[in-house]
Amino acid sequence: MPRRVATLSVHTSPLEQPGAGDAGGMNVYVVEVSRRLAARGIAVDVFTRATSSEQPPVVEMAPGVTVRHVSAGPFEGLGKQELPAQMCAFTAAVLREEAQHEPGHFDVVHSHYWLSGQVGWLARDRWGVPLVHSAHTLAKVKNAALAEGDEPEPRARVIGEEQVVAEADRLVANTAEEARQLVDFYGADPRRTLVIPPGVDLQVFRPGDQQRARQRIGVPADAVVLLFVGRIQPLKAPDMLLHAAARMLADDPALRARLQVLVVGAPSGSGLAEPQRLQELAVALGVTDVVRFLPPQRPERLADHYRAADVTVVPSHNESFGLVALEAQACGTPVVAAAVGGLCTAVDDGVSGLLVPGRDPADYAAAIRRVMVRRQLLGAGARRHATAFSWDRTTDALVDGYAAAMAEMRAARPLLRPAAELRRSAVGLLGR
Ligand code: UDP
Repeated sequence: MPRRVATLSVHTSPLEQPGAGDAGGMNVYVVEVSRRLAARGIAVDVFTRATSSEQPPVVEMAPGVTVRHVSAGPFEGLGKQELPAQMCAFTAAVLREEAQHEPGHFDVVHSHYWLSGQVGWLARDRWGVPLVHSAHTLAKVKNAALAEGDEPEPRARVIGEEQVVAEADRLVANTAEEARQLVDFYGADPRRTLVIPPGVDLQVFRPGDQQRARQRIGVPADAVVLLFVGRIQPLKAPDMLLHAAARMLADDPALRARLQVLVVGAPSGSGLAEPQRLQELAVALGVTDVVRFLPPQRPERLADHYRAADVTVVPSHNESFGLVALEAQACGTPVVAAAVGGLCTAVDDGVSGLLVPGRDPADYAAAIRRVMVRRQLLGAGARRHATAFSWDRTTDALVDGYAAAMAEMRAARPLLRPAAELRRSAVGLLGR
């Protein structure tokens, strides 16, 4: 069993509000898993890049979970694409932090996203502990399903991902499909590739009275509510929901008096111009009167949005999983989602919602209508499906993965454990 894990989250902090900028499902993942590891007696240090001079160097996020803000490059004005140049500075800071302690301080490095994998790989070699890596998204997969106006991921990222896949002792995939992509596109060793689904907080995201939820968020009782939640970027395709809504209004003009399309989230990455583009699209489609754009919401309030909705729509071009789909279902709200990537696992087609192949707004409009007719039944199926996922299960599986990687490393390189001890005695003799 590990006692202390170094979690690397270079480009986005677990303290950020998800739903804007670079903060999304990965931040939620790191927060939920770190808390649960700490509750199992496994301390977690999360290393993340400092993005403001106001951030204290060290923050105790929860008992046993320490967030360390690492100085690597200017605090502000550095885009994700510019971060590779700062990895040396970031790695140095991580190694120096560990060097403040007795050797053997960390038992495992868990890196999130390829940039962190680059740091983790060096930390692994230096400390003689396994590297467990979660990719969260893969450039080759993303580039194969690019949204119009989205920038392709650079070759440097593809190469960087390949290096991390080759170096990691364990790769964590959200779904069997992601595991297959790691093996087929990146040459990952299937024996070292674990399928560990993410979870959902079933206490926060739970069914509740729809009318009361509507009152709390200011939606009329008799409204037909369609919800989009997520970072506003081309990949997430909130424009598909606008097109589908326009289609529904064209087919049924009387619906205009009741239709409410809620778009929750803020811009991100290459989608910085996206909110403006969406507003213009709403004007062009003649749906401005039924669309409301809302800023990112905290989980409790977000749960009210899910409860208030008749259908949550997740029309992404690709998702490695799609936590939003799971959260909506946990609140008893069926989902209409694109039949791509992790969404095919996150949604049980025909039971908890509907998966839509292709990108025709008419298909989305038809799926939304079909789901609304069976809202009650699919809502119950949605909650049932969501309860199969839990962060506790995710954490247990990760701990097993950490332990297996540690045991394998000791068995394969019996001198490695002594390496930590050698360092310890060298430190004893020579000082650090
Ligand atoms: N989220 C949030 N508030 C918002 C919008 C999103 O807390 O207003 C969270 C949401 O609850 C989910 C995460 O951001 O847990 C988005 O994860 P998902 O896997 O759907 O997409 P990603 O951002 O990872 O691409």
